[in-house]
Amino acid sequence: MDGVTENDISHVIEADKAHVWHHLVQHKPFEAGDPRIIVEGKGMRVWDATGKEYIDAVSGAVWTVNVGYGRTSIADAIRDQIVKLNYFAGAAGTVPGAIFAEKLIAKMPGMSRVYYANSGSEANEKAFKMVRQIAHKRYGGKKHKILYRERDYHGGTIGTMSAGGQTERVMQYGPLAPGFVAVPHAMEYRAQWDLSGEAYGERAAEAIEEVILREGPDTVGALCLEPITAGGGVIVPPVGYWQRVQEICDRYDILLHIDEVVCGMGRTGTWFGYEHYGLRPDFVTLAKGVASGYAAIGVTVTTEKVFDMFKDDATDPLNHFRDISTFGGCTAGPAAAIENMRIIEDEGLLDNTTAMGARMLANLEGLMDKHRVVGDARGKGLFLGLELVADRTTKEPVPEKDIAAVVADCAAQGVIIGASNRSVPGLNNVLMFAPALIATPDDIDQITDSVDRALSKVFG
Ligand code: PLP
Repeated sequence: MDGVTENDISHVIEADKAHVWHHLVQHKPFEAGDPRIIVEGKGMRVWDATGKEYIDAVSGAVWTVNVGYGRTSIADAIRDQIVKLNYFAGAAGTVPGAIFAEKLIAKMPGMSRVYYANSGSEANEKAFKMVRQIAHKRYGGKKHKILYRERDYHGGTIGTMSAGGQTERVMQYGPLAPGFVAVPHAMEYRAQWDLSGEAYGERAAEAIEEVILREGPDTVGALCLEPITAGGGVIVPPVGYWQRVQEICDRYDILLHIDEVVCGMGRTGTWFGYEHYGLRPDFVTLAKGVASGYAAIGVTVTTEKVFDMFKDDATDPLNHFRDISTFGGCTAGPAAAIENMRIIEDEGLLDNTTAMGARMLANLEGLMDKHRVVGDARGKGLFLGLELVADRTTKEPVPEKDIAAVVADCAAQGVIIGASNRSVPGLNNVLMFAPALIATPDDIDQITDSVDRALSKVFG
């Protein structure tokens, strides 16, 4: 390293190219250029190692940094806590673990218990394990099946992939775990039934009931759904869907597991996505926005009714949740989460998300008038998608290379946007937006103006 210190950017790039295996990347074309190294962030903006500034319209690539970058109060909360006590797991409690659980439950009427882990996948795995154990305790193991929806994503572990509705994320990783069954997606834009609006929503929910009846209601323990399908293309289920889903779960005694890993903590303008639909979930899983990426944390939240099933018979040595997550004992996660929640509350970020989300959706809808390639603009709060099609009638998706060209052109303009990422073969044609909840009208306009220019450049 003649004259080059360890942190010099040329060395960092060399080290990255030589040793880092990046997420979701085909490394051969990737290595033809230099990786983008992000070195700093403040508010909505990040800077790469060359000093180039970007407005980040996806909150850290995967919709995580809800309160924005450079929050010294979260850094202080983490530091103060870990200097005092960084970690303790198992049966002992910690101060931030107890306090964050109390604050979170106060926002979730009907829920009462928080189980700590450290990622979204893990939070979902814990819920799946609880469902399986309830099946064994209450139903002789029979009511063990977990239904998941086409295009939904719940994580990268073998268990969560078994509940994976995104074909490309799951292919070649089998054999997967048994007892997971798919239900049809609820995307009206690519309709499976010749209906619209509420009638479509009700039909899509009835399709779930058909699967339950086919499998046998006495074999189905839980239904796991994203409130808005995220990486599968920002799919907001139609009106009428959720009410019917809740009725179906109640009718067949099926536990409703809402995966709020993306939508939770304000992303859609309410604390949780399920609040928009008046759902009464049995499990809610949260991760990304819980501490906005300042610390790793994932939580499985459930009701006292579920919790009671794991303690009702203390004489049975198997009658408790026989599970642990080593890093569920890190105090940095809940300490950061408490401060993250305070920021969302004190800065009025839920209202801002609703207002800025409406502005962004209107801007994106405006792009439909201008660019024939825009087939659909959709979303809720600050979680939005723009579906690009070669033909509005056939809805044939634009080629992936064109989506990549739009994303690259925006980046060249200093705007980082996302795309539904190679999860459903042939249908990875949705541009995705999830800016931090602190976005201003100027930020929103800067993002959509840059998309406008990129669409003109790529599609003419
Ligand atoms: N659930 C949803 C809806 C997600 O989008 C993701 C990740 O993107 C996960 C679960 C998995 O979370 P993690 O990557 O933290 O394991």
